[in-house]
Formats: sequence, structure tokens, C-alpha cells
Amino acid sequence: MRIHQLSPVDAIASLKSTLSGLSYAEVDRRLNEYGFNEVEKLTRKPLWLRLIKEFVTFFSLILWIAAGLAFFAEWSDPGQDMAKVGYAIVIVILVSGIFSFWQEYRIEQTLAALRKLLPQQAQVLRQGVVTRVPAEQLVPGDIIYLEQGDKIPADCRLIEAFGARVNNTAITGESLPKMREADPSKADNLIDSKNIVLAGTSMVSGQAKAIVFATGMHTEFGKIAHLTQTAGEEISPLRKEIAYLSRLTAALAVLIGFLFFLIGWIIGIPFWKAFIFTIGIIVAMVPEGLLPTLTLALVLATKRMAKRNVLIRYLPSVETLGSTTVICTDKTGTLTQGNMLVQQIYLSKTIISLAGIKEKTDFLDLNKLFFLTVSMCHDLKEIGNHGKSPILGDSMEVALMEMVLNLSPGLPVYPRLDEIPFDADRMRLSTIHQAPEGATLYCKGAPESVFPLCQHIIINGEIQPLDVETKASVIQAQDAMVHQGLRVLAFACKKLVVDYDRERLEEDLVFVGLAGLEDPPRPEVPEALRRCQEAGIKVIMVTGDHPGTAAAIAREIGLVKSDNPTIITGEQLRGFSDIRLQLALDAQEIIFARVVANQKMRIVEALKKKKHIVAVTGDGINDAPALKAAHIGIAMGIAGTDVAKESADMVLLDDNFASIVNAIEEGRAVFENIRKFLTYVLVHNVAELIPYLGFLLFKIPLALTPIQALLIDMGSDTFTALGLGAERPNPQIMRRPPRPQSERLMNWPLVFRAYIFLGLIEATAAMAVFFFVLNSAGWEYGQNLAAQDLLYMQATTACLSTIIVMQIVNVFLCRSDARSVFSTGFLGNKLIIIGVISEIVILLLINYTPWGNSLLGAAPFETEVWGLIIVCALVMFILEELRKWIARKKSLNSSYRDGV
Ligand code: ADP
Ligand code: MG
Repeated sequence: MRIHQLSPVDAIASLKSTLSGLSYAEVDRRLNEYGFNEVEKLTRKPLWLRLIKEFVTFFSLILWIAAGLAFFAEWSDPGQDMAKVGYAIVIVILVSGIFSFWQEYRIEQTLAALRKLLPQQAQVLRQGVVTRVPAEQLVPGDIIYLEQGDKIPADCRLIEAFGARVNNTAITGESLPKMREADPSKADNLIDSKNIVLAGTSMVSGQAKAIVFATGMHTEFGKIAHLTQTAGEEISPLRKEIAYLSRLTAALAVLIGFLFFLIGWIIGIPFWKAFIFTIGIIVAMVPEGLLPTLTLALVLATKRMAKRNVLIRYLPSVETLGSTTVICTDKTGTLTQGNMLVQQIYLSKTIISLAGIKEKTDFLDLNKLFFLTVSMCHDLKEIGNHGKSPILGDSMEVALMEMVLNLSPGLPVYPRLDEIPFDADRMRLSTIHQAPEGATLYCKGAPESVFPLCQHIIINGEIQPLDVETKASVIQAQDAMVHQGLRVLAFACKKLVVDYDRERLEEDLVFVGLAGLEDPPRPEVPEALRRCQEAGIKVIMVTGDHPGTAAAIAREIGLVKSDNPTIITGEQLRGFSDIRLQLALDAQEIIFARVVANQKMRIVEALKKKKHIVAVTGDGINDAPALKAAHIGIAMGIAGTDVAKESADMVLLDDNFASIVNAIEEGRAVFENIRKFLTYVLVHNVAELIPYLGFLLFKIPLALTPIQALLIDMGSDTFTALGLGAERPNPQIMRRPPRPQSERLMNWPLVFRAYIFLGLIEATAAMAVFFFVLNSAGWEYGQNLAAQDLLYMQATTACLSTIIVMQIVNVFLCRSDARSVFSTGFLGNKLIIIGVISEIVILLLINYTPWGNSLLGAAPFETEVWGLIIVCALVMFILEELRKWIARKKSLNSSYRDGV
């Protein structure tokens, strides 16, 4: 017989396990034998193949052709030194290929490391104790607990189930939830059996205990894994924009290059020379590092975020984060610590504050039923008597159980017969137990959910009808607790008749009491909220808790300052039309309380209609649709269910609201960094282009040879540019409103600054130095210079050196578009420092080594020229500081992007 056909006990025996789980020694042994419970990744392309790929990209191919042509020229017409040009181009291809390979490799490693930060957990029973272990450590024979929202970690046979339903979409493609139970099945097929749950599917509702019978590649999911492992990465808006920008500039560059080629040909430059010349122009004008830099910028931001407890599951959401305009956040555990403590209880029409009480009193003894109810009706998982093993579970449940253990120890434990599970929409949990006097139902939940079910109340051990006056007393007690910001739970119970009707269980209950739990706010939250306000981000609390509790907490953390914030309950919301909801969302301070999950979705949709960029938090399985619908779905790392995490774009490892705000800051920085990178690269592109223009239009000797332009573009500026793409967020970034979605990466201020201002300054300086060298040797306009002429080589070297030195200064100028260099500083970015050092080394190699001389057609120039170069760099520095100063002045009344 197969495992689904056996009784639960036989199923356990068939796997040589026991009711209290496997022993640790046995687990180790089985781990050795069956391996980890993981689905193997598809084998990736070998490294060498990926390395080769870098050398056959579009740009490399153009360069290969250019190199080939240079060698051909050397062969057909020796003595022009074209072979050197050929070698230099090959070196450039190799260096930049290896560099981008390294970059990609690094991206991959970082992402892989990040993925490890969020292992799937499983609750497993071993040697009689429940613990949480990473799901990959499960072995066949392990007994695990499953609950609503869990992803099933392995193929399991249920041995106990309450209201369990699973979603099998991942395996069978059906999306309707299916009931699951523990009884033996007569089905032939394992997959069709009602007592089997499969790895990769998820628990939609209920609770279950199950025994693992297949792990890793032996699971049904493992068998089909190779079919589903198609990693298609979606294309983000920013990526699209950059791709478009790259294509546009590339097309432009090719067009201009072609034009120059024609002109060159017409004025009589030999074909191959004109061709290499054209290549020089194209390379000079194309910002080829843009896309990889975007990816790296995103990945590095992701890495920094991980350090700040935010795990990005979907890379492009980093940039979306930066334009977030509204955050819909949970209260419990996110704004608050989720570290609960029972502060007050209400029994027999009396509110008792627990602060002073340490042990049991006669009064408490008289109200034992309250404590019995609390101790029965819970979601905790432990074996044997309370208190034997550490309590594992939801912090509210733990707090309630601890209260019972303190105030009424030694209560009996009745075996659980059945339960109607908690879910955020029902807002209550009922369990049915075998008490000595017969089956009894215990219920706890939100007072609004439980109280209407009660017809009676127990007062000092006596059951009495719930009259109007008593009802008023209960409601008054609830209000009093709620206004102190306590989370209030109601408890009730009921003795069941022998063959009770399962459909009508939660009716005619006896009310036994209330408990008020304190959940203090997280200390970081008020500051985080202040930062949101400064950054123009609206924060909306969306909670399942009571409106009074929600308002009290909101006031405490500074989310609500006015006397009459808008508070909308789930019930009111039900009566709202979409238009009314959208209007309501205009309110300054707004709280949604007692909402159910599909209403969260409605709120998100309404905000999206109002053109907001919405980030929303969630933890339960019911939150999954809202997490998917929002621009940024944020799941809780600790309290969140697997299903919520899988639907989310990012996961808060510490469940902390403040971490969301940090992530937004990093997201904003990415966009800014791409702009810094772009500015920097565009500046040298202008400086590379002007010599060509001068050559063609004014017959000036070519101030920068193609190979020298190539060096700047793909060699010396590489690290500095990358460094700008990886800058840390600047402190001002959260002091201005979110970037409008419509704002383009390349806007007019950027174009002006890069092309017209900095670009022209640098180009002018480079040309000035070039002429200075020529003129001081007595050269006059119109005089032709051969490529091997020492003077020509000195002059081009001086021009090249000017551009490199000015780019060293420029990288610091580009760290902000409005803040002074003295405020952005000189150190603090490792890549920029490495970049600057590499620029200096390259500069020295070109000027002072025979090897560098010969490769770049360079020759050392007079030392005094260095003085001129430094003056030029200083002039650019001063002019840019001046421009920034004016920009800052203007930004006092306008909203300049990177303003003070
Ligand atoms: P929140 O937005 O504060 O996380 P939830 O949606 O988790 O709220 O819960 C909504 C309400 O359901 C709570 O205010 C509480 O009254 C009730 N509740 C929460 N957890 C449980 C539970 N385990 N058992 C019974 N009732 C619960
Ligand atoms: Mg919750």
C-alpha cells in the first residue's frame, strides 16, 4: 500500500518515524543519505563561455573590425605605425571585456548572497520538541506543522488537519483551493489523494500536522522543476529608458561618424584612416557603460539595503521605491514592536490591572474559566503540559499563555478535537476540546467578532443572561482599554451537546472576559515618520485592529497630530463607492481600522487611480493580492507567511517600518547616481568629440587620436564612473518631494550641465593646452604635422593628459549637482578613490613609460605644461562651484533637484 492509503499511524510507521518525531541522530543520518531538501538549480552556462560572450558584443565587434583594419593597413602600407593602433584596440577590447565580465560576476555573486538571507523555514517536531529549521534541512520521516500561508516545504502526508485547504497551482495549474484531510484515501494516484500536500504548493487556510515522505528532487515539484525554471526578468521603466537612451545616442553616434567619414573621404583622407577615425567618433559618443552600470547601481543599492534589513526580491523595484508617494502600513509588529504583554483583564464586570499582581488571588480563582479558555484557545504548538518546552508562536498568543502560567498555573490540558481556524477576515479562533464533562468550545477574537455571538456572561462562576446593562459595562470596559492603545481580545466558551452541528458551533456563547494587551511602538518609528513627512511621503495606517487602539497608537507615534483625523472602519468602507473612497484619501491624516484583506486591495487600487506610487505592507495570505497590486509590495520577514513573501517585491527582515523609509532613501539614490554617472561620462564624450570637429571644420591637427579617445572612454574613466553609480544616498535626498514618474533621466539641466557647461570647459581646456604645446614650439596655423612628428605626439599627449586630469577633478564635481565639493567631500567612496588612483597610474604610464608611449603614440611634454593643466582643472573647479552656488541660491524658492 502506498502512503496515502495507510492510516496516519501506519503512515508514520512506514517511514520509521514516531509520533514525537525523529531523533536528531536519525535526522543527521537521513540528511546524509537523502541530501538536503532543495531543488537543484539548472546548470548555468560555463564561465568561459560567458567570458567569451563579453568579447562579441556589438561594440567589441566594431572594435575588432577596426583592429583588423589597422593590421590590414599596416600590411598593405607598412611604416604608418598602424599595427600599434591595432594592438591598442585589441587591448582595449580585452580590458573592457574582462571588466564587464567581472562586473556581471560580481552582480551575480551579490544576488546569490542576498537570496540566502531569506531561507524558507519549517516548524518541525523532533525528539518531542517543536523547533524552526530551514526547510532545506527536512528529511523523510520528519513531522511538520503547517498553517495558513505556509509554503509546503516537501511532499507530505497529513496526519492531522483542521480546515486545511491547499492551492495546487504550482503543480497542477488549478487555482481553486482544495480541501485536505488526514483520513486514508482510496485514490490510486498520490497527487489526487486528499491527504497529500505537495512541495511548492501552499496552505490557503487551516492547520495541519504532516509527515514528510519525499524531499528535494524526489518531490513532484523537483521532478518538474526543470520545466519551470525559466528565469525571465521583467524590464523596468528605468531600464527601458536607459536602453532607449543608449540606442538613441548610438544611432546618433553612428550617423555622425558616418558623416565625418564621408567628409574625411572627400577631403582626401585614406579610406582605412578615415574608418578608424570614424570608430573613434562612435566610441567617443556612445555611453556604453550605462546599462551595466544601472544594474550594478541597483545591485549595490540592494546590498546596502540588505544591511539595513530590507531584502529586495525584484531588482527593478529599487528604482520604483525611490518614487514612492504613499506607504500603507500595518500597525502590529511594524509600527509597534509586536512584543505584547497583557496589561489589563476584564472579568466578572471588573477591570483588573495586572501590573501589580504577581500571583493568583481568590478572585482570580473564582474566574478560572477565563484562564481555562485562554489556555485552550490558541495557535501555539507545543507538546505535553504548558511550560515544558519554550513557547513557540505568535507574540500575542505567547503573551496570553504567559499570563495564564503566572496567574493560574496548573490548569488541565484537554485534547483538541477540532478547530475553526483564525483568519484576518473572521477575526476569531475557536477550538473544541474533550473536557471531562463533554466537548467544549473555546473562542477568542476581536470583541466585535465574538461579542455578538454571546447570549450569556459568566460572573463569579455563575452564568447569567447578557442584559442591556451588562452589555454596556463590557463595551465601556473595551473602550477604556482601547483608548489606552491596548489591543483588546474577547473570550467566550460553550458546552457542546453530544452530536453537535458543526455548522452552528459559534452560536449562543458564554462571554467570559476581555484581555487588553499592550504593544509598545517601535522607538525608531517617530523619527522615520518625520523623515517621511519631510520627503513628501504620505503614510496611511491600515490595520485589522480596533479604530480606538489604532488612533491611540497613531497619536503616540506622531502619525496623527490633529484632533480629528479621518478614521474609516472596514464596515464604513463597505458602504463607500470608489469615488467616495478616492475623495476620502485626500485627507491629511487617515487611518483604516478593522479592515479585512480585500479592502486593503481596494485602498491600494484607489490610491493607484489617484496616480500615487503605492507601497503596501502585508503578512498574511489574504494580503497577497494587495502586495501584488501595489507598486511595491512589502512582506514581513518575521511575522509574514511564505505566501506573502512570495507575492512581495521586498521583504522587511526586521518587520520594522523604519526600514521601509531607509529603503526608499536608497531607491532615490539609485536614480540620482545614474544621473551622476551620466553627467560624468557625457563630459568626457564632449571633450573627445571637439578635437574631431576642429580637425574637420577648421583643419586643426587632430588633437586626440582615436586610440587616445578609446583609452579615456573604455579605460581610464571606468572606475570613477562606476564609483558615481554606486554613491551612498546623500543626506538631502529625503528632504524633497518624490520624483514625479514623468521625470526623465536626462533632463535639460543635466544636458546643459554635462554638454554645454562642464563638457565645453573641459574641451576648451584640452584644446588650449594642445595649442600651447604646439605654439611654444613655433607651430603656426595651417602647418601640417605627421603622425610620427615628436611635437605632434607631445601635443596630443598633453591634450589627453588634460582630459584625464580634469576628469579626476570632475568626478568630485559630479558627486552632486548642487552641493559644493566641500560638502560632498573627497573620501568616502572606495570605488572613486580606486578610480582616481587608476587614472593617475594610467597618466604616468602613458607619459613616462616607453611601453605606454609607444602604445598610445605618446611622448612626454615639457614639465611646465603640467602647471597649465592644473590651472585649467582649477578653473573648471571654480566655475562649477560658482554654478552650484547660483543654483543653490535659486533653489531657495524653486525645488532644485539636489538642492540644499
Ligand atoms: P493587525 O492589523 O493589527 O495585524 P490582524 O488583522 O492581525 O490585525 O488582526 C485583526 C484582529 O483579529 C485583531 O485586532 C484581534 O482582535 C484579532 N486576532 C488577531 N489574532 C488573533 C488570534 N490569533 N486569535 C484570535 N483573534 C485574533
Ligand atoms: Mg496582523
